[in-house]
Amino acid sequence: MTTLRHILASGTPSFSFEFFPPRTDAGARTLWEAIRRVEALSPSFVSVTYGAGGSSRDRTVDVTRRIASDTTLRPVAHLTAVGHSVAELRHIIGHYADVGVRDVLVLRGDPPGDPNAPWVPHPDGFTHAHELVSLVKESGDFSVGVAAFPERHPRSPDWDSDIRHFVAKCRAGADYAITQMFFHVEDYLRLRDRLAAAGCDTPVIPEIMPATDVRQISRFARLSGAAFPEELAHRLEAASGDPAQGHRVGVEYATAMAGRLLAEGAPGLHYITLNRSTATLEIHREVLGARPAPDALAVPR
Ligand code: FAD
Repeated sequence: MTTLRHILASGTPSFSFEFFPPRTDAGARTLWEAIRRVEALSPSFVSVTYGAGGSSRDRTVDVTRRIASDTTLRPVAHLTAVGHSVAELRHIIGHYADVGVRDVLVLRGDPPGDPNAPWVPHPDGFTHAHELVSLVKESGDFSVGVAAFPERHPRSPDWDSDIRHFVAKCRAGADYAITQMFFHVEDYLRLRDRLAAAGCDTPVIPEIMPATDVRQISRFARLSGAAFPEELAHRLEAASGDPAQGHRVGVEYATAMAGRLLAEGAPGLHYITLNRSTATLEIHREVLGARPAPDALAVPR
């Protein structure tokens, strides 16, 4: 079977979409409508996030299984180490293998509740993602992705240790990485330069998150620590109360960013959908057509 590493090495940029497991029946309907719309575009893969607590983990496994069995899509299952013993992780990995899911995005995860709380490993579990990468790799013929951080991981004290630990995940067998959301292309390019200087050539797919509503900004900062461009924040503020204009502003910015990332040689684009495909599909259509004017990105840093 063609692995994601092969797809990423082909020279044609991959494109992919991220979903999260829904909590309600209405949420499930929205998700499946979005999945079906995305399926029509034959993306390289779709990924399903893994919740930090209890039942949402079962929903991740269920949605991923259904994507594998009921669609033509390649599902990538996110899997976090937090709160799991190694035996439980082995069980989930075995289950994925049984239902034909061969692609796993391996993450350490954050403490449930408050992602910034002190990290406490499960007594019979793992402390860092590279250990879970090794476990998945030794468990079968899996293609494994890991997380990368264009503005470095919020818990990393400096860039040297951040890069060193990222490279350890690649040496443990990661085939590719997907970034945290970010809003300045330069942050991605600098990360790529740092990895190249460390002798690491693992493909790093940038994540594209369309910011269409000024109220999202503080949530993004809390979840990812991503620096938000002031100019974009002003434009979204000016559009508050006018969702259609906010949508246009966010889509225009993300489209310009995506176009520039591809022009700079990014191996693909991974779109966060929040289970609603409209904005990401618009961006994707624009990116596939004319590459956007770089002026749309003229945001001072
Ligand atoms: P690690 O690689 O273990 O790194 C965490 C920190 O530990 C870093 O500072 C690193 O430098 C440091 N470190 C690593 N190894 C060592 C070592 N040997 N010694 C000392 N320090 C070390 N979370 C979810 O709960 N569910 C999801 O579905 C999910 N999906 C994500 C998808 C993407 C694309 C990204 C970018 C993040 C996602 N996250 C998800 C969030 C992720 O779980 C958190 O960002 C988490 O804090 C870091 O995970 P990691 O795999 O990078 O951890």
